[in-house]
Amino acid sequence: MNDTTISRRRVLGAGAAFGTLALAGCATSSSGPSIGRVVVVGGGFGGATAARYLKMWGGNVDVTLVERNTSFVSCPISNLVLGGYKQIAEVTRGYDGLKALGVKLVQGEVTAIDAAARTVKLADGSTLGYDRLIVSPGIDFMTEAVGGLGTPAAQAKFLHSWKAGAQTVALRRQIEAMPDGGVFAISIPKVPYRCPPGPYERACVVASYLQQAKPKSKVLVLDANPEVQSKKALFEKAFKDRYAGILEYRPNAELKEVDAAGGTARLEFEDVKADVLNVIPPQRAADLARSAGLVNVNNRWVGVNWLTMESTALPGVHVLGDATFPAPTMPKSAHMANQHAKVAAAAVIQLLKGEAVNATPVVMNTCYSFVSAREVIHVASVHQYDAANKTFQPVAGAGGVSAAANQVEARYALSWADNIWADALALA
Ligand SMILES: Cc1cc2nc3c(=O)[nH]c(=O)nc-3n(C[C@H](O)[C@H](O)[C@H](O)COP(=O)(O)OP(=O)(O)OC[C@H]3O[C@@H](n4cnc5c(N)ncnc54)[C@H](O)[C@@H]3O)c2cc1C
Repeated sequence: MNDTTISRRRVLGAGAAFGTLALAGCATSSSGPSIGRVVVVGGGFGGATAARYLKMWGGNVDVTLVERNTSFVSCPISNLVLGGYKQIAEVTRGYDGLKALGVKLVQGEVTAIDAAARTVKLADGSTLGYDRLIVSPGIDFMTEAVGGLGTPAAQAKFLHSWKAGAQTVALRRQIEAMPDGGVFAISIPKVPYRCPPGPYERACVVASYLQQAKPKSKVLVLDANPEVQSKKALFEKAFKDRYAGILEYRPNAELKEVDAAGGTARLEFEDVKADVLNVIPPQRAADLARSAGLVNVNNRWVGVNWLTMESTALPGVHVLGDATFPAPTMPKSAHMANQHAKVAAAAVIQLLKGEAVNATPVVMNTCYSFVSAREVIHVASVHQYDAANKTFQPVAGAGGVSAAANQVEARYALSWADNIWADALALA
């Protein structure tokens, strides 16, 4: 292996190793009677991975994946689209690999879950029955937390681009249309939110583009938190060394209100005018989790049993990824959703077979961030199940951060993305 390619086994190793161990001796033949029906809702990082691993590890298990979108658009790497360094097509993939594995794909919107009857209802009125349900619906936005953001007009103007796709392309257009000498402001909500380093990566990538294309412009980072939330020293160094005079970071700058007519951001003690105002609102588990009665922590997140990812609110319903109330220091990331999916897929197969689930799962996370078009930093962590406290705890001394931004890790970051897309979607 050279330094430009990382094997799938190494990048996503902990989850795969967990699954292999957990399922040692588990038959994977697809012949014989079905062991059960599993419906998976949401074909993003968590749901797609779960569908794939259920098929791979479960043998003759009947898996149906319901996803509202026709294709998979990755948030990881989408900040590069904002900088003009990638096109949206380069972060978009299809579901054909999962179909080829025998996963039944249903394009549609799940509107209700009946946990007693073990059915889900779709917007077209149809229902799907299940023995076990896996839900990985991601996040939705608490637009009500920002004054003036409740209207469709305000949401069309102040884009979040925190779900990759049409908004990513639209925000790129806004940045391209910005005059040289204009201001791009990004507002970051208080934690917890999807992808702790993501907003700081975005600020760097946009600053990198503006430095080249519109050098009189400014990037203003309005952070509701008291400090940078991930890879702090490395991002602060990038802000100071690379983007001095272009990028200004303001902590404790919570966005209170937006004025759609004037393009103004209202903070507690001042108003800020921006040509492009990228509002990342506070977040909660996605709408389906709320309407289905899965949300039971802080009125925002879904509590789970970490050995199985089964909801603590609705039996038989397993919830993955960003929608969950996280274990200590566990980030809301694609890598972690992928790991949740492997814990859930193994547990669901074992539960369907009446076997004991793995009592000692270990999961890990690696998150790369571009600080320019060519240089990257990473953070990594390992999380081990703690039976006494019934949660995952970070493993002391495991993981860490880059010593400094570097170009080798830019290649690793792109390999990581290719590998996790392939892992989730069963791509060749
Ligand atoms: C700019 C940005 C950069 C990021 N970079 C990284 C990174 O470098 N590394 C990393 O690990 N993470 C990164 N992340 C975080 C990562 O994208 C999320 O943590 C990850 O997508 C969570 O996976 P999920 O399965 O919980 O949700 P998602 O991937 O959002 O999947 C949810 C899916 O469910 C579908 N869905 C929801 N409700 C329904 C319904 N009712 N019916 C049918 N379908 C439904 C949605 O359409 C969606 O496809 C980044 C995020 C952003 C915004």
